[in-house]
Amino acid sequence: MINSKSVNTFLKKISYLLVCTLLAISCGFDNKTTDLITVSENDIILWNKDSFPLTMYIDNSFTASEVSSIKEASSLWEAAVEIDVFNSFPSFTPVNYSKTEDYYYLDDRMAIYKASHQVESLRPNILALTQLYIKLVKKIDGRQIFHIEHFDVFMNDFYFNFNDGGGSGEYDFKTIVLHEIGHVFGISGHIDNTIMNGYGSTNIVTHSIDPDIKQDLYDIYHIDLYQLPSKVYISHISTTPLTSTTAIVSFQLLKD
Ligand SMILES: [Zn+2]
Repeated sequence: MINSKSVNTFLKKISYLLVCTLLAISCGFDNKTTDLITVSENDIILWNKDSFPLTMYIDNSFTASEVSSIKEASSLWEAAVEIDVFNSFPSFTPVNYSKTEDYYYLDDRMAIYKASHQVESLRPNILALTQLYIKLVKKIDGRQIFHIEHFDVFMNDFYFNFNDGGGSGEYDFKTIVLHEIGHVFGISGHIDNTIMNGYGSTNIVTHSIDPDIKQDLYDIYHIDLYQLPSKVYISHISTTPLTSTTAIVSFQLLKD
C-alpha cells in the first residue's frame, strides 16, 4: 500500500537526484563522455594498406591441424581482397590475462589466442571474439572511416570444444576461425545466413566466403571510399571508446 510518507520520501529522493544531475551538468562533469568517439553501424573499418603485410602470431597451444586451418582461413580472405595481408604466422606462448583488453594493453602482439583459461569478456555464451583497436581517419557524408591498428582473436576454449567437422556438441574450428578473421579484415558486424552470421552452431560447417561478402570487402579496399554504397551490418558489436578518435570494438560470436 502506498502511504503519504513513502510518497514524500520518494519525492525527496527524486528532487535530490535532480539537483545532483543539474549540478553535475553545470560543473561540466559530462564533458568527458560527450567528447568520446561513437562507432555507428554504417561506419567503415579497414586497414591502411600501407601497414601491410602484417604478422599474425599464433598461440602455440593450437594443434598443427588448427594452425593449418588458421592459415587457410587467412588465405581465403586474402584471396577475397586480392591483397597479401599476412606474411608470417609465428608461434608464441601467450601470458594468460584475465581481460581481453589486457591483450591489447599488455601484449603488443596481434594474435589468435586459444583461451583455455577464464577470461572476463569471454562469457559462457560467446564462442569466439575479435577485438580491434581502431582510429578515426576521416568522415564522408556523416560516415566515419576508421583504420584498424591492432587485432586480437580469441577462441573460447574454456567453455567450448572445437573440432574438425562439428556435431556432438562441438563446433567446427575452421568455420569459426574463418568467421573471426573476416572481422580482422574489416567485416564490421554480422550478416544472417552467411559465414558472418552472428550465431555459431554445432551443425554448421562452412569453409568458404559468400560472394556478396567477398565483393563488399573487395570494394572497401579497392573503390574510392566516397563511392561506396551504404551498408548496415548489425548485432553483437560492443564499443569501448577511448578518446575522441579511438576505440576498441569487439565482435562476439554467440552460440545459437
Ligand atoms: Zn562475428
